[in-house]
Amino acid sequence: MLRPVALLLILLAAPRALAVETMRIAMSEVREVVQISGQGLALGMDAEEASFHPLGKNRVTVRRSGRRLEVNGAPIVGDTARFRAGWVNDDAGVPGDAPLRAGDMEVRGDVVVRFYKDGLQLINVIPLEEYLAAVLGSEMPTSFPLEALKAQAVAARTYALQKKLEAYGSPFYMGSSVLHQVYGGVTSEDPKTRAAVEATRGEVLTYELAPIEAYFHASCGGRTESGQAALQRDLPYLQAVDCPCGKLPSSRWSATVSEAELREALNGSPQGLRITGRTRTHRVTRIATDGGESLDGARFRQRLGYTKLKSLDFEVEKTGHGYFFTGRGYGHGAGLCQWGAKVLADGGWSYKEILSHYYPGAEFQQLY
Ligand SMILES: [Zn+2]
Repeated sequence: MLRPVALLLILLAAPRALAVETMRIAMSEVREVVQISGQGLALGMDAEEASFHPLGKNRVTVRRSGRRLEVNGAPIVGDTARFRAGWVNDDAGVPGDAPLRAGDMEVRGDVVVRFYKDGLQLINVIPLEEYLAAVLGSEMPTSFPLEALKAQAVAARTYALQKKLEAYGSPFYMGSSVLHQVYGGVTSEDPKTRAAVEATRGEVLTYELAPIEAYFHASCGGRTESGQAALQRDLPYLQAVDCPCGKLPSSRWSATVSEAELREALNGSPQGLRITGRTRTHRVTRIATDGGESLDGARFRQRLGYTKLKSLDFEVEKTGHGYFFTGRGYGHGAGLCQWGAKVLADGGWSYKEILSHYYPGAEFQQLY
């Protein structure tokens, strides 16, 4: 296994390397049969520069029959098939732009069907820039200023590339929950997010020539959290920095949690619930109860639900109706703060200034 640094150097050295530009996203799993449809459907091997052959049909049935993979009843060689729509003569290389329907999902790029456990797995192979254009709208409100969207585009590209290098050689690099986020709407592709992706095409953030772990979150509440405290990632570019989002009323939250909910989360009585540890940015690391229950802050938030307890920067008090939580920020707090990026962009900051603020020490690299 090559280290990410070495891999990035290889990718940088390769002229317009196709490998850099495609992502492989796990879509779904099916038991034995799946319908694939699209205009000008073609079949090829699952390789970066494999050639594709037209199927002469706009819809086919792919079936796993024991140890064979069949396309419209005819067995094919191997246990993997890759489909592409919009086939034109001598079509190799970059995955197609034409939409392809696989099962109940519509995607751009190619769809790979492969043996997986006892059934079949569907993987979407999609150019990185297409993937980003689709994902950006679900990661940041499209109403945000362009420089904030550009900062998010570079962070998302870097994050995706880092995931790809981490999973190098695996059949897919990201799971289906990300895909569902991505394709919450192919139709919701937005001209503004596409412009932000195109304006930063190929641009990534690196540290010592490796793509950084570009974590981001909705709102930090006034100060971001270190990578070590938020995610157990002790990285030089994930340090706590001040953020203007704390001045926004929307960065405040509150939640009432019933005694029953707390009892379930704590596996015991919440009597005497109190905070017993905080990080330097005021985020809760530990809570305790009179009954001797003690729980890690992050686990406590996970058990109560990430949307209920929006962040770890909170206070808690007992009321007549349960427990009342008040807090600041939304998310783990490490890396780019999206609402902070919005405030800074509104104040005239460029996307590079924004990124340099939230990922101190990271460098910009033009990958292609
Ligand atoms: Zn913030």
